[in-house]
Parts: sequence; structure tokens; C-alpha cells
Amino acid sequence: MKSCPFCNSRNVRLIELVNSYVHCRKCDACGPERATREAAITAWNTRAGEKA
Ligand SMILES: [Zn+2]
Repeated sequence: MKSCPFCNSRNVRLIELVNSYVHCRKCDACGPERATREAAITAWNTRAGEKA
């Protein structure tokens, strides 16, 4: 899992509720919600203009 694109912190964790998403504990940023943890991590790693 990549570090936070907003504050560059590696203090990020996966939240698993109805949907899953990655949350940054330092700046409180959240990645896109996805149905599975794998998809949530992929979304976190590839958003912000990056190619998948
Ligand atoms: Zn952050």
C-alpha cells in the first residue's frame, strides 16, 4: 500500500465496513470506497491522476 499522496505519511490503514477504503491517520484523508479490500487498496494506489 502506497503512502498518503496528500501528506506523504505511511501511517495509513485499511478500513473494512460495508465497503472498504484506505484512511490516512495523519491528515485524515480517505481513498475511494470499494466493495473489497483488494479493490480499495488498488484504488488508493492508482488514483490522483496515476495510470492503473
Ligand atoms: Zn495523509
